[in-house]
Amino acid sequence: MPIQTLLDFRDPEICTRLVIKIGSALLVDNSGQVEVEWLRGIVNEIWTAREMGIEVVVVSSGSIAIGAKKLEFEKGGRRSLAEAQASASVGQIELASVWSRLLAERQLVAAQMLLTLDDFESRKRYLNISATFRRLLRSGVVPVVNENDTIATGEIRFGDNDRLAARVAQACNADGVILLTDVDGLYDRHPSHPDAERLNEVDGVTDEIHAMADTGSGSGLGSGGMTAKLLAAEIAERAGIALAIVDGRPEMPLARAMAAQTGTLFLPQREESGKRAWIGGRMRFNGSITVDDGCVSALRDSKSVLAAGITKVDGDFVRGDIIQVLDVAGREVAKGLVEYDADDVEAIMGRQSAELEPILGHSPRSAVIHRDHLVLM
Ligand code: GLU
Repeated sequence: MPIQTLLDFRDPEICTRLVIKIGSALLVDNSGQVEVEWLRGIVNEIWTAREMGIEVVVVSSGSIAIGAKKLEFEKGGRRSLAEAQASASVGQIELASVWSRLLAERQLVAAQMLLTLDDFESRKRYLNISATFRRLLRSGVVPVVNENDTIATGEIRFGDNDRLAARVAQACNADGVILLTDVDGLYDRHPSHPDAERLNEVDGVTDEIHAMADTGSGSGLGSGGMTAKLLAAEIAERAGIALAIVDGRPEMPLARAMAAQTGTLFLPQREESGKRAWIGGRMRFNGSITVDDGCVSALRDSKSVLAAGITKVDGDFVRGDIIQVLDVAGREVAKGLVEYDADDVEAIMGRQSAELEPILGHSPRSAVIHRDHLVLM
């Protein structure tokens, strides 16, 4: 049974594995020091969860904020990519050591995993990540994950640990993700507005929900903001994982949020198989195809993408790549594993199945994207 309420996050029958993401604004004070006492409280909560039989994976931000102070960089180290990367490499070593020390105080072993967006986009590396999580958790270790900011650049970078946390949850097969941050959830308008109300529950992230998001993060230390949290919620909900935004500022924030039911819970929307969930969470594509309205309806009826419905091909993809499927208005309707190289799709688009063999020079595959390898957005 999937998680349905905030209380379910501490029921080991429902939540056997939990990802807890901690934002920079909570972990690091304005002088660049780690908030050790606060973190010790979190470690206690992790210990409690573990005692109850819930496995925990931590996604911890903070390396850039810590390193920037040490190096006396302005703007929290985010003035340029080079400064962010230098800050991250200085800060990460301290961040990891604090985690390791505090977890050891509770007889817990920490493991550091530094990952990049590309590690999740490559199926092989993704499976390696999954296997490592499994092995670590089986040994009772608490993995502490961060983005490998020193090597991740530009478009191959998550840039925020919210989406990283959602991808980590998929890779470690978690039931839930808790994003601990410096607000207590998603508000229907800017939280400073007198009429702003917090949403307790979101049953599917829609355009209307996106419109509520505030793009700036309150503290200026992290890089997530509400927009990134909603993108993370979308990755999680499609993979059948519940995600909660919870105020991390009080003592014992997890226990408090669950007892008082304060926070915003994003309910899981579907239970995709491992491979489809991985496709659904992909963020980078080598290309796209545009399909006509008839094809869009067929896809919604669980059909495959056939050449006849394709009207346009973009990018330089090859067979086996994950590509986007767009409607005529340019909206993403699906992602899927393509059976042909871009040149071949270009040659056969708009054609009926019977016409394909002479064009291709070999017998055609059953579809351009087979429905088993297609995930609707
Ligand atoms: N990976 C970054 C860090 O450790 C944080 C990204 C974020 O703010 O979400 O500093």
